Amino acid sequence: MEQTPLLSLRGITKRFPGVTALSGVDFAVRSGEIHALLGENGAGKSTLIKVLTGVYPPEEGIIALAGRRLAPGSPKEAERAGISTVYQEVNLIPALSVAENISLGRQPGRLGCINWRAMRRHAGEALARLELECDVDAELGSLSVALQQMVAIARALDLQARLLVLDEPTASLDEKEVAELFKVMRRLRGEGLGIVFVTHFLEQVYAVSDRMTVL
Ligand code: ADP
Ligand code: MG
Repeated sequence: MEQTPLLSLRGITKRFPGVTALSGVDFAVRSGEIHALLGENGAGKSTLIKVLTGVYPPEEGIIALAGRRLAPGSPKEAERAGISTVYQEVNLIPALSVAENISLGRQPGRLGCINWRAMRRHAGEALARLELECDVDAELGSLSVALQQMVAIARALDLQARLLVLDEPTASLDEKEVAELFKVMRRLRGEGLGIVFVTHFLEQVYAVSDRMTVL
Protein backbone atom coordinates (compact mmCIF):
# COMPACT_ATOMS: atom_id res chain seq x y z
CA MET A 1 0.00 0.00 0.00
CA GLU A 2 1.28 3.45 -0.91
CA GLN A 3 1.71 5.73 2.09
CA THR A 4 0.26 9.23 2.01
CA PRO A 5 2.99 11.31 0.38
CA LEU A 6 4.40 14.30 2.21
CA LEU A 7 3.41 16.54 -0.66
CA SER A 8 0.94 15.91 -3.41
CA LEU A 9 -0.08 18.18 -6.26
CA ARG A 10 -2.87 16.96 -8.50
CA GLY A 11 -4.20 18.34 -11.75
CA ILE A 12 -2.44 21.68 -11.42
CA THR A 13 -3.22 24.11 -14.22
CA LYS A 14 -1.75 27.60 -14.37
CA ARG A 15 -2.24 29.99 -17.27
CA PHE A 16 -0.66 33.33 -18.02
CA PRO A 17 -2.12 35.60 -20.71
CA GLY A 18 -1.48 33.68 -23.94
CA VAL A 19 0.48 30.82 -22.27
CA THR A 20 -0.61 27.70 -20.44
CA ALA A 21 2.44 27.24 -18.20
CA LEU A 22 1.08 24.13 -16.45
CA SER A 23 -1.66 21.83 -17.69
CA GLY A 24 -3.01 19.17 -15.34
CA VAL A 25 0.34 18.50 -13.62
CA ASP A 26 0.63 15.75 -10.98
CA PHE A 27 3.59 15.75 -8.62
CA ALA A 28 4.26 13.97 -5.33
CA VAL A 29 7.16 13.93 -2.86
CA ARG A 30 7.67 11.52 0.04
CA SER A 31 9.37 12.23 3.36
CA GLY A 32 13.04 11.32 3.21
CA GLU A 33 13.15 11.66 -0.55
CA ILE A 34 15.11 13.87 -2.91
CA HIS A 35 12.81 14.40 -5.85
CA ALA A 36 14.23 16.05 -8.96
CA LEU A 37 12.05 18.34 -11.01
CA LEU A 38 13.42 18.48 -14.53
CA GLY A 39 12.51 20.22 -17.74
CA GLU A 40 13.82 22.53 -20.43
CA ASN A 41 13.78 26.26 -20.09
CA GLY A 42 10.17 27.41 -20.11
CA ALA A 43 8.80 23.97 -19.19
CA GLY A 44 7.07 25.39 -16.13
CA LYS A 45 9.39 24.33 -13.27
CA SER A 46 9.53 27.72 -11.59
CA THR A 47 5.80 28.21 -12.10
CA LEU A 48 5.07 24.89 -10.38
CA ILE A 49 7.29 25.92 -7.46
CA LYS A 50 5.52 29.27 -7.28
CA VAL A 51 2.11 27.58 -7.19
CA LEU A 52 3.38 25.31 -4.44
CA THR A 53 4.77 28.20 -2.39
CA GLY A 54 1.76 30.48 -2.67
CA VAL A 55 3.14 33.00 -5.15
CA TYR A 56 0.42 32.19 -7.73
CA PRO A 57 -2.95 30.58 -7.14
CA PRO A 58 -3.56 27.80 -9.70
CA GLU A 59 -6.65 27.91 -11.93
CA GLU A 60 -7.23 24.25 -11.22
CA GLY A 61 -5.79 21.54 -9.03
CA ILE A 62 -5.27 20.46 -5.48
CA ILE A 63 -2.26 20.72 -3.15
CA ALA A 64 -1.99 18.57 -0.04
CA LEU A 65 0.73 18.43 2.61
CA ALA A 66 0.77 15.21 4.66
CA GLY A 67 -2.76 14.51 3.45
CA ARG A 68 -4.17 17.90 4.41
CA ARG A 69 -5.49 20.33 1.81
CA LEU A 70 -3.33 23.39 1.46
CA ALA A 71 -3.98 26.57 -0.50
CA PRO A 72 -1.15 28.91 0.49
CA GLY A 73 -1.94 32.53 -0.26
CA SER A 74 1.67 33.68 0.09
CA PRO A 75 5.19 32.27 0.57
CA LYS A 76 4.92 33.17 4.27
CA GLU A 77 1.81 31.02 4.57
CA ALA A 78 3.56 28.15 2.79
CA GLU A 79 6.49 28.52 5.20
CA ARG A 80 4.20 28.38 8.16
CA ALA A 81 2.77 25.13 6.81
CA GLY A 82 6.29 23.67 6.55
CA ILE A 83 7.31 24.41 2.96
CA SER A 84 10.54 26.41 2.69
CA THR A 85 12.13 27.55 -0.54
CA VAL A 86 15.62 28.63 -1.49
CA TYR A 87 15.61 30.49 -4.77
CA GLN A 88 18.40 30.51 -7.32
CA GLU A 89 19.28 34.09 -6.53
CA VAL A 90 20.08 34.19 -2.84
CA ASN A 91 17.59 36.72 -1.52
CA LEU A 92 19.34 37.62 1.68
CA ILE A 93 21.06 40.87 2.68
CA PRO A 94 24.81 40.92 1.87
CA ALA A 95 25.62 43.81 4.21
CA LEU A 96 24.27 41.98 7.28
CA SER A 97 26.02 39.23 9.23
CA VAL A 98 25.36 35.52 8.79
CA ALA A 99 23.51 35.43 12.13
CA GLU A 100 21.32 38.39 11.22
CA ASN A 101 20.43 36.84 7.88
CA ILE A 102 19.43 33.53 9.45
CA SER A 103 17.07 35.32 11.82
CA LEU A 104 15.97 38.00 9.37
CA GLY A 105 12.42 39.11 10.10
CA ARG A 106 12.15 36.89 13.18
CA GLN A 107 14.95 37.97 15.53
CA PRO A 108 14.71 36.69 19.07
CA GLY A 109 14.00 39.53 21.46
CA ARG A 110 11.04 41.71 22.30
CA LEU A 111 9.75 45.22 21.91
CA GLY A 112 12.12 45.98 19.05
CA CYS A 113 15.13 45.01 21.14
CA ILE A 114 17.26 42.33 19.52
CA ASN A 115 18.80 39.68 21.78
CA TRP A 116 22.14 39.39 19.99
CA ARG A 117 23.49 36.59 22.11
CA ALA A 118 20.43 34.41 21.49
CA MET A 119 20.51 35.26 17.80
CA ARG A 120 24.18 34.29 17.41
CA ARG A 121 23.75 31.08 19.36
CA HIS A 122 20.69 30.21 17.30
CA ALA A 123 22.58 30.82 14.07
CA GLY A 124 25.42 28.60 15.29
CA GLU A 125 22.95 25.78 15.90
CA ALA A 126 21.30 26.22 12.50
CA LEU A 127 24.71 25.97 10.79
CA ALA A 128 25.78 23.00 12.91
CA ARG A 129 22.77 21.08 11.61
CA LEU A 130 24.37 21.35 8.16
CA GLU A 131 27.80 20.56 9.62
CA LEU A 132 28.88 23.92 8.32
CA GLU A 133 31.89 25.77 9.68
CA CYS A 134 31.19 29.43 9.23
CA ASP A 135 31.67 32.54 11.37
CA VAL A 136 28.20 33.78 12.35
CA ASP A 137 29.57 37.33 12.64
CA ALA A 138 30.97 37.39 9.10
CA GLU A 139 29.32 39.73 6.66
CA LEU A 140 27.23 37.55 4.35
CA GLY A 141 28.48 39.35 1.25
CA SER A 142 32.07 38.42 2.08
CA LEU A 143 31.31 34.68 1.67
CA SER A 144 31.42 32.61 -1.50
CA VAL A 145 28.13 32.18 -3.35
CA ALA A 146 28.12 28.53 -2.26
CA LEU A 147 28.40 29.44 1.41
CA GLN A 148 25.75 32.13 1.04
CA GLN A 149 23.47 29.49 -0.38
CA MET A 150 24.18 27.21 2.60
CA VAL A 151 23.24 30.09 4.88
CA ALA A 152 20.00 30.46 2.90
CA ILE A 153 19.32 26.74 3.42
CA ALA A 154 20.06 27.04 7.15
CA ARG A 155 17.62 29.92 7.28
CA ALA A 156 14.95 27.98 5.38
CA LEU A 157 15.28 24.98 7.71
CA ASP A 158 15.04 27.22 10.71
CA LEU A 159 11.33 27.56 9.92
CA GLN A 160 10.66 23.94 10.90
CA ALA A 161 10.46 22.95 7.30
CA ARG A 162 9.13 19.53 6.34
CA LEU A 163 9.66 20.14 2.66
CA LEU A 164 12.65 22.01 1.29
CA VAL A 165 12.46 23.37 -2.24
CA LEU A 166 15.74 24.18 -3.98
CA ASP A 167 15.18 25.99 -7.29
CA GLU A 168 18.27 25.51 -9.50
CA PRO A 169 20.64 25.56 -6.51
CA THR A 170 23.69 24.39 -8.44
CA ALA A 171 23.54 27.00 -11.19
CA SER A 172 26.43 29.13 -9.91
CA LEU A 173 28.44 26.50 -8.00
CA ASP A 174 31.66 24.76 -9.03
CA GLU A 175 32.10 20.99 -8.91
CA LYS A 176 33.41 20.87 -5.35
CA GLU A 177 30.65 23.14 -4.09
CA VAL A 178 28.03 20.99 -5.80
CA ALA A 179 29.45 17.96 -3.97
CA GLU A 180 29.18 19.87 -0.66
CA LEU A 181 25.60 20.80 -1.38
CA PHE A 182 24.72 17.20 -2.23
CA LYS A 183 26.23 16.09 1.07
CA VAL A 184 23.97 18.50 2.92
CA MET A 185 20.96 17.37 0.89
CA ARG A 186 21.62 13.71 1.71
CA ARG A 187 22.04 14.56 5.36
CA LEU A 188 18.67 16.34 5.44
CA ARG A 189 17.05 13.47 3.56
CA GLY A 190 18.35 11.22 6.35
CA GLU A 191 16.48 13.41 8.84
CA GLY A 192 13.26 12.67 6.97
CA LEU A 193 12.89 15.92 5.09
CA GLY A 194 11.35 15.88 1.63
CA ILE A 195 13.47 17.79 -0.89
CA VAL A 196 12.43 19.11 -4.28
CA PHE A 197 15.54 19.62 -6.40
CA VAL A 198 14.88 21.75 -9.47
CA THR A 199 17.58 21.41 -12.08
CA HIS A 200 18.29 20.96 -15.74
CA PHE A 201 21.53 18.97 -15.27
CA LEU A 202 20.71 15.32 -15.86
CA GLU A 203 23.97 13.97 -14.42
CA GLN A 204 23.26 15.79 -11.13
CA VAL A 205 19.84 14.19 -11.03
CA TYR A 206 21.36 10.74 -11.21
CA ALA A 207 23.96 11.62 -8.57
CA VAL A 208 21.61 12.73 -5.83
CA SER A 209 17.93 12.06 -6.58
CA ASP A 210 15.70 9.16 -5.60
CA ARG A 211 13.00 9.91 -8.17
CA MET A 212 12.37 12.48 -10.83
CA THR A 213 9.50 14.22 -12.55
CA VAL A 214 9.98 15.71 -16.00
CA LEU A 215 7.85 18.65 -17.04
P1 ADP B 1 11.05 27.08 -16.23
O1 ADP B 1 11.26 27.49 -14.82
O2 ADP B 1 10.85 25.60 -16.40
O3 ADP B 1 12.12 27.59 -17.14
P2 ADP B 1 8.76 28.88 -16.12
O4 ADP B 1 7.87 28.30 -15.11
O5 ADP B 1 9.60 30.03 -15.74
O6 ADP B 1 9.66 27.72 -16.76
O7 ADP B 1 7.88 29.32 -17.39
C1 ADP B 1 6.86 28.49 -17.97
C2 ADP B 1 6.11 29.28 -19.04
O8 ADP B 1 5.31 30.28 -18.42
C3 ADP B 1 7.02 30.01 -20.03
O9 ADP B 1 6.38 30.00 -21.27
C4 ADP B 1 7.08 31.41 -19.44
O10 ADP B 1 7.31 32.34 -20.47
C5 ADP B 1 5.69 31.58 -18.86
N1 ADP B 1 5.68 32.48 -17.69
C6 ADP B 1 6.31 32.25 -16.50
N2 ADP B 1 6.06 33.25 -15.63
C7 ADP B 1 5.24 34.13 -16.28
C8 ADP B 1 4.62 35.37 -15.91
N3 ADP B 1 4.80 35.89 -14.70
N4 ADP B 1 3.86 35.98 -16.84
C9 ADP B 1 3.68 35.46 -18.06
N5 ADP B 1 4.22 34.30 -18.47
C10 ADP B 1 5.01 33.63 -17.60
MG1 MG C 1 12.91 28.47 -13.80
